[in-house]
Amino acid sequence: MAQILTPTVQWQMRTSKYTGNASPITTKMWNSLVLKRKGTSKSSAKFRVCALKSGRGTVNRMEDLLNLDVSPYTDKIIAEYIWIGGSGIDLRSKSRTISKPVEHPSELPKWNYDGSSTGQAPGEDSEVIIYPQAIFKDPFRGGNNILVICDAYTPAGEPIPTNKRHRASQIFGNSKVVDEIPWFGIEQEYTLLQTDVKWPLGWPVGGFPGPQGPYYCGAGADKSFGRDISDAHYKACLCAGINISGTNGEVMPGQWEYQVGPSVGIDAGDHIWCSRYILERITEQAGVVLSLDPKPIEGDWNGAGCHTNYSTKSMREEGGFEVIKKAILNLSLRHKIHISAYGEGNERRLTGKHETASIDKFSWGVANRGCSIRVGRDTEREGKGYMEDRRPASNMDPYVVTSLLAESTLLWEPTLEAEALAAQKLAMNV
Ligand code: ADP
Ligand code: MN
Ligand code: MN
Ligand code: MN
Repeated sequence: MAQILTPTVQWQMRTSKYTGNASPITTKMWNSLVLKRKGTSKSSAKFRVCALKSGRGTVNRMEDLLNLDVSPYTDKIIAEYIWIGGSGIDLRSKSRTISKPVEHPSELPKWNYDGSSTGQAPGEDSEVIIYPQAIFKDPFRGGNNILVICDAYTPAGEPIPTNKRHRASQIFGNSKVVDEIPWFGIEQEYTLLQTDVKWPLGWPVGGFPGPQGPYYCGAGADKSFGRDISDAHYKACLCAGINISGTNGEVMPGQWEYQVGPSVGIDAGDHIWCSRYILERITEQAGVVLSLDPKPIEGDWNGAGCHTNYSTKSMREEGGFEVIKKAILNLSLRHKIHISAYGEGNERRLTGKHETASIDKFSWGVANRGCSIRVGRDTEREGKGYMEDRRPASNMDPYVVTSLLAESTLLWEPTLEAEALAAQKLAMNV
């Protein structure tokens, strides 16, 4: 790539006009250009920009514009409105100008989109209204620009079927739930695929890598594939204000995990969805496809989950282990309801192998990664702490999973009869 000067400020993407040799820009030349900009008004700014000449003869000065700080020229910011599409897992977004920087989603206008293009409304009445619910800093545009997590409603104000946030925020608004300050720590696993062949990153096309073993938390060109994506995502999330708590390479090569949390109530869902959006954008830039399929490769390869670590105030306080056991009892009675809400295709993952429990049978244990629910050694030793629900798939909806956990353990009560029977079953672990 050679740096060259381009003659005007207007977009000039092709080099067909530039037949001569590219002359590298010098510091002196650059300074003279910068000086020319000083004191010019917003509208009449005529300045030259520096451009890059790529191998294919295309002038690329996009970087300069993408990194352009617009704040000396305008108070306006760009808000990227993000919502969940018709499949319940696809993320969509579009951007709009907001007159000045904002601190809270309530300062933002509602907006709309064409629901017939996302499988969310019929063509003849296609308008879906999005309500801003949470804002994050935009790590791509920088400055005061923001990412806006929205949920979707009909024009009459009814949540549309894919809007799972609405019900979740009602549950998290219930005083019994609020008083228990529910915490969630979510471990989002994902798989990176080569764009054209949809085969995991680092895997030989048409073949398989060596068996699992060296890849989990591994380092080295033959063990770790896609670290730059994981790392770029980590920093972008920190910059955005997402409560990301760590990352690690996974057991299956090309698979990664990051953790978000502990977050309180509805925040857990907002943060996971925003982190997924950022990951989609980073993989888009990298030319790699993000897969949240729970079992991307059949056979002796680990699937991808979204373990959800959960605790309430009572679980975190003295005597908490007893509260955890009672919560586990409730969960055992609602196993089917939870499984049906824990992600599409999860039956391919929850086989009882590869650190999973069978989908058909509820189980729990201390430090046992082959159970539906795992309680950590620390929690057992200290008599308080949290539990890990290992059942959710990587493509689960965090609004659904977190609110269902709160509902089943804080709002729902079994009959005395059912409770006695479940206690017996759990004691025998059958
Ligand atoms: P694992 O050992 O299963 O791989 P990780 O370290 O990947 O666990 O993730 C554990 C998650 O649990 C983290 O996101 C962490 O923030 C979260 N966590 C820790 N303490 C609590 C708690 N008391 N309640 C809920 N989540 C918690
Ligand atoms: Mn983990
Ligand atoms: Mn993991
Ligand atoms: Mn885990």
